[in-house]
Amino acid sequence: MKRTSTRVLTALAGTGLLAVTAAATGHAVDSDAPTYREFKADTFQDTDGQYIVNGDVPVAQAGALKSFYDGLVAPQTPTDGLIINTVYGSDDTWSGGQAANLTYCVSTKFGADHTAIKNAMASGAGQWESASSKINFVHDASQDGSCTVRNKKVVFSVEPTRTTQYIARAFFPSSSKSQRNVLVNARSLHSSGSWTPSNIMAHELGHVLGFRHEHTRPEAGTCFEDNSWRPLTAYDSASIMHYPQCNGSSDDLSMTSTDRAGVQAVYGS
Ligand SMILES: [Zn+2]
Repeated sequence: MKRTSTRVLTALAGTGLLAVTAAATGHAVDSDAPTYREFKADTFQDTDGQYIVNGDVPVAQAGALKSFYDGLVAPQTPTDGLIINTVYGSDDTWSGGQAANLTYCVSTKFGADHTAIKNAMASGAGQWESASSKINFVHDASQDGSCTVRNKKVVFSVEPTRTTQYIARAFFPSSSKSQRNVLVNARSLHSSGSWTPSNIMAHELGHVLGFRHEHTRPEAGTCFEDNSWRPLTAYDSASIMHYPQCNGSSDDLSMTSTDRAGVQAVYGS
């Protein structure tokens, strides 16, 4: 989750952003698009080495960043129609059994913020759990003292970060275990105005469940990312997965009835 006023694709140079927008609307690709070398140099590299794109989405390594870049600069075919991430054309989701037991730890390295993060996670998870009875996030507090991506007793870890490049960032179901953490800047999480900690964590857990940013859909008219997704519902400008600063119609990042319908379409009601 990132709180910027005008641009989400901060990794792109100004002309590059225009080029991508033009591509998204079916116009010719601007020759001023950044080269891959320029794009890579401008992309924030997180403390764990992963590159952060689209505000709060990590890609693991240079090869994956190149694929992401190629998708950005390629001519796009607008698609109509909450959206699910796709990998090589297949939905990026958890199996039913795994969705019912998404275990996680909350690092004790949050220190004085540990309880607050624990509560924000429980509340954010609860939003998806109440939308679909098939989804169950399970906090395994016994693992909080060794809460890293190397802990194989949990599906994912929730860990602190000091970066101010984003408030929090997550991963997708297809991410390998070594990439499955939610990084949170606790200070930013609790000073984001109308975006409550619960809603911000629910947004991140939306990615964990496979959902993409709603504003990549052509109807948003801005903040296009790529076309590797499949629509689950009609476009929802108020979706919890829609950045308000990307022509969104909600300013509090709350979950909508359409979001609930979307998660039910994937995981069941
Ligand atoms: Zn996001």
